[in-house]
Amino acid sequence: MDHGDWAYFEGQIVSIQEAKISVMTHAFNYGTAVFEGIRGYWNEDHENLYIFRLQEHIDRMLRNSNILMVRPKLSLTEIQDIIIELTAKNGFREDTYIRPVCYKSEHELGPRLHDVASDLVIYEIRLGDYVNISGLKVAVSSWRRLRDNAIPARCKATGAYVNSALAATEAKMEGFDEAVFLGEDGTVSEGSAENLFLVQNGVLITPPVTADILTGITRNTIIELARNELGLDVVERPVGRTELYVSDEMFFCGTGAQVAPVVEVDRRPIGTGKLGDVTITLQKLYFDVVQGKIEKYRHWCTPVYDR
Ligand code: PMP
Repeated sequence: MDHGDWAYFEGQIVSIQEAKISVMTHAFNYGTAVFEGIRGYWNEDHENLYIFRLQEHIDRMLRNSNILMVRPKLSLTEIQDIIIELTAKNGFREDTYIRPVCYKSEHELGPRLHDVASDLVIYEIRLGDYVNISGLKVAVSSWRRLRDNAIPARCKATGAYVNSALAATEAKMEGFDEAVFLGEDGTVSEGSAENLFLVQNGVLITPPVTADILTGITRNTIIELARNELGLDVVERPVGRTELYVSDEMFFCGTGAQVAPVVEVDRRPIGTGKLGDVTITLQKLYFDVVQGKIEKYRHWCTPVYDR
């Protein structure tokens, strides 16, 4: 990985070589950690790096850390300040990915959450596109999305990503770019690391927060931009599998995936089988917003330099 030289570990910023956990760490053995994925976008004209929706990511992490009882002792503002300081120290002048992890740090046997100390680690890498953003061919997975009452997808627990890895691996080994999860009830949930949207007759449709999805910050961004900038109706409702095949357009979205059009599902072309107009318009708007090019949405972009 093309990582930054500095990380936050055990309460301080240290060199990445020093940020090491033991084989006995609880989170390593049981997947007991909650993490975030945040992007920083380099704006060449402003000569600044903008961290996208930093506050919302930390807020989500703190809420989720409650589920796994890994809540850091630091406040939202303190964590934000640490991330800004760390990112400035890494000195990135290109697109960046920031990974905070709240984890069970004690060397303890037994899969429990109470009585086990936790800690916060943050590291950063340079990151361009995580998936191809010019037309994905995807497949419905034979793996089902894990349920809220088994391992909550909502909580972004590291252990839950075994479910994502199984689906993504199956899809890629079968020659597809990505997987679409159905929930145990058979309705559409999300991708392995992305939320998804359909366009049907000019209306944007996405599975609801009860469809065993991670409640994505990009998903929320897309809903706001579609409503406020494009005047589109957005509906959050259960989505049937075959709706994927009959929609006009489909796209994935997420911090990593950004806005990634899907042109084929299960070897069936979606709409024309080419990039759709609504998706392309939203993708362009999204990139302008995250790069801090649109004043109205600059409050979502935290500058790292010259503060
Ligand atoms: N679903 C899953 C399973 C994910 O891992 C991600 C990426 N964090 C998303 C959805 C998208 O969430 P966000 O837009 O907050 O990055």
